[in-house]
Amino acid sequence: MSVTTRFAPSPTGRLHMGHAYAAIRAHDFARERGGRFLLRIEDIDGTRSRAEHVATILADLRWLGLAWDGEVAFQSARLDLYAAALERLRSLGLMYRCYCTRAEIAGAMSAPHGQVAAYPGTCRGSRERDAPHCWRIDMAAAVARCGAPSWTDHGRVVTNEALAQGDVVLARKDAPASYHLAVTVDDAAQGVTDVVRGCDLFAATHVHRILQALLGLAVPRWWHHPLLTGADGARLAKRHGAPALADMRAAGLDGAAVAARLRAGQIA
Ligand code: GLU
Repeated sequence: MSVTTRFAPSPTGRLHMGHAYAAIRAHDFARERGGRFLLRIEDIDGTRSRAEHVATILADLRWLGLAWDGEVAFQSARLDLYAAALERLRSLGLMYRCYCTRAEIAGAMSAPHGQVAAYPGTCRGSRERDAPHCWRIDMAAAVARCGAPSWTDHGRVVTNEALAQGDVVLARKDAPASYHLAVTVDDAAQGVTDVVRGCDLFAATHVHRILQALLGLAVPRWWHHPLLTGADGARLAKRHGAPALADMRAAGLDGAAVAARLRAGQIA
């Protein structure tokens, strides 16, 4: 069976070495198997996505020597697909409106040790009213309907723990879809067979597998890879001062050499 992977950055900032590593993992996975590597720009978040970041991302990937197949897909151009999926889930009676404000949710969800607790279901079963709202999935009802299907990571069967994720948001107040919904719909629509991405998204996969079952979508294999960490062991992210690929490019570094070092497990 032919293989299709993708790199799916959100254009809300500049890419750093952690992104480069993720892109290389997905790219190489496909190329080593004679498969396709797609690039999808996850720009449903209209308030945080920026066109200039898109241009920079494309230039960064070219600099690293990563060529993608076909046209670049933009989530902002695919909103009808997400709306249709949402409608289907609503018609199954699995969605409800949530009117909670950010502050209310932050209060209800604060948990010890910085863990993120699941949404407590405050608005589940509440009367519909004319006020700003997002749409949440009733996860218990969803799991009861589709039976919590397992999935595979590196070929190993993973028990579905979507219930622990709670009633996640599938359509935001300010955007017609959420990450969970858009990524699931797109991976299926684009024929992605193997999702190669960072292990920070491992828990999200429980939710994605539920959505696939409910929407009758094809099920890919998952390969969550470790995240790059800095010398202090902390995850590389911009807030830790990881240099942007664009700055390295502008400084005249050789992108192919940077990619080669990342493939060899070296960060700098
Ligand atoms: N857009 C997501 C991010 O930037 C990644 C989506 C995915 O790989 O599933 O973190």
